[in-house]
Amino acid sequence: MLRSKYFIGAAAIGVATVGALALNRTNSESLQKSAAKVGEKPNVILILLDDLGSTDVGFGGSLDIKTPNIDRIAEEGVNCTEAYISAPYSGPSRCGLMTGRYQQRFGAEGNANAQTVEEKQGVLESEVLLSNVMKEQGYATCAIGKWHLGDHPDLWPQSRGFDHFYGFPGGGYSFWGTANKNDHEYKLLQENGVPVKSTKQTYITDDFSREAVEFIDKTSKTDDPFFIYLAYNAPHAPLQAPQKYLDRTKHISQAQRSVYAAMVLAVDDGVGQIWEALERNDIEDNTMIIFLSDNGGTGDAGRAMNYPRRSFKGNMFDGGIRTPFAIYWKGQLQAGSTYDKTISSLDIFPTVATAAGFNPADNKNPLDGVDLLPYLTNEKSSNPHKSLFWRVCGGMEYAVRSGDYKLVKTYYQDEYMLFNLKNDPIEMTDIASCNKELVEKMAAEYKAWDAELMEPRWVDEHAPHQVTDHEAWELFRKKSSGNR
Ligand code: CA
Repeated sequence: MLRSKYFIGAAAIGVATVGALALNRTNSESLQKSAAKVGEKPNVILILLDDLGSTDVGFGGSLDIKTPNIDRIAEEGVNCTEAYISAPYSGPSRCGLMTGRYQQRFGAEGNANAQTVEEKQGVLESEVLLSNVMKEQGYATCAIGKWHLGDHPDLWPQSRGFDHFYGFPGGGYSFWGTANKNDHEYKLLQENGVPVKSTKQTYITDDFSREAVEFIDKTSKTDDPFFIYLAYNAPHAPLQAPQKYLDRTKHISQAQRSVYAAMVLAVDDGVGQIWEALERNDIEDNTMIIFLSDNGGTGDAGRAMNYPRRSFKGNMFDGGIRTPFAIYWKGQLQAGSTYDKTISSLDIFPTVATAAGFNPADNKNPLDGVDLLPYLTNEKSSNPHKSLFWRVCGGMEYAVRSGDYKLVKTYYQDEYMLFNLKNDPIEMTDIASCNKELVEKMAAEYKAWDAELMEPRWVDEHAPHQVTDHEAWELFRKKSSGNR
């Protein structure tokens, strides 16, 4: 029954796409090839990096880190140059990504705190995850790497629509795959709830790539399409890389950046192995690949580069909330194209779910993201979003992006800043004082959105880098702890 429902959806997608693309010779050939595939559900590989700088992959503009395998996703797909994530740090960003909804709607506004696992900090069971939908659509589902959507076992991937999980539920891990034997189980590297033996562990990035390749090889021999959520914890701290990668970044003289770059190269090699697996199984024509990071690069010790975006992970300037973003789906998307309208990581849920045959309007909870396919194929020429919003610490800081304009409300100075990102992509010229009407309009738009949200369900002790006022912080703690 699921299959027959899908056939209608897939045919509709194929027809719409054929109508939208410019039919030059190359496209015509590839579309003819894809037409033969209509009726098959695409496999989906969602590759998420951790704290990757906006300009730290080749297709994002890096000059010193070469990533040919990651770049291939953009070169044979679409490079989305104005892509945002819904939070400036890990936990809440992933909660938004996997639900397609602003995570503040369900109180997941900070990182889950490792000391309070019993409290079910993370995405509660009342929310539908993309993996739930994919499972319903007949997919073999697999999560690999860092989870960070809840430390409690009820919130782990295997309870949230994933058939298979190889990774760690928390927010960080040693790249050598070791853990203290006294650690709580949510801190351990596991395979479907069973701690992974140290003999199976090498360099964790290599291990995650190996697991993805094994899942591709295994599932390709069955009739089921697959959905792989491959969430590398690279290049997040700790800075650790084997010599084989360090040997390839000796041209970088700054020590921390050199190790960081080696960690990105490990991911790129892994993506190369995934391409090989797709080709080996002859499924690269019917596999969608999406690549992004969960937040901007960190400002620690000059390791990451977000240039020309202002600032870093943890705040509301573009360096905190922008990501390199590429999407590949052969025959459906024009190879080597660029999309420059503002999109969000929240769009991934409806985009992937629609490709799998699900109608996003049928989701139990209303989605904030939109299906990007009609936009990426120019079937729709309008902006996918009228506005995008960000909020941290219950609104101590927030931001709004509408068209070319971005409003940033800072806590430290308690003031609005307004930027025209088209003229000023580095957010250096604050034009709030001479655009008071626009500031008020965007602030009002934020407040209307904010009124739909709940207070944070827990206090994230590590996230509020911005809040230096102890009294205000205590007030926030009190407000949030009454809302669990
Ligand atoms: Ca992160």
